[in-house]
Amino acid sequence: MGELANCGRCGKVYVKTIQTICQDCYKEEEAWFKAIDRFLSKKENRAASLEEIHQETEVPVKIIQQFIRKGRLLLQHFPHLKVPCERCGETTQGGRICSACISQLKKGLAKADREQQVQRKQHPFDEPNVERPPDYRLKRILGQNDHQ
Ligand SMILES: [Zn+2]
Ligand SMILES: [Zn+2]
Repeated sequence: MGELANCGRCGKVYVKTIQTICQDCYKEEEAWFKAIDRFLSKKENRAASLEEIHQETEVPVKIIQQFIRKGRLLLQHFPHLKVPCERCGETTQGGRICSACISQLKKGLAKADREQQVQRKQHPFDEPNVERPPDYRLKRILGQNDHQ
């Protein structure tokens, strides 16, 4: 028996594979993908929008967007397929965020880095995601006593 995990889609417990979803959801997604693939393989459907694909194939819009984000549906082949930027909601050709947001993020990153460094100096262990030993606070209290 392999490691157990919760399916990223339905939440069911399943034996972990390289997939982040369970077999049932995986099969369902594959069936959806085939339906989209079949639909888009017809020449007259190439220019279909996300909404049209959804209506014709009954695949949830979210799933279609997921296929686009994962690069399974290649946007250069289907010029009318677009997904909203995860940051600003503007449509973007592939990727999770639009190019305007990427350049903004790059600018912001340098600034955030500097701010984080300052914070780290002031509150070295106050970052929520930093793993710290459970007895850290105790040690700090004890450590303070050491210097007296
Ligand atoms: Zn599932
Ligand atoms: Zn954006």
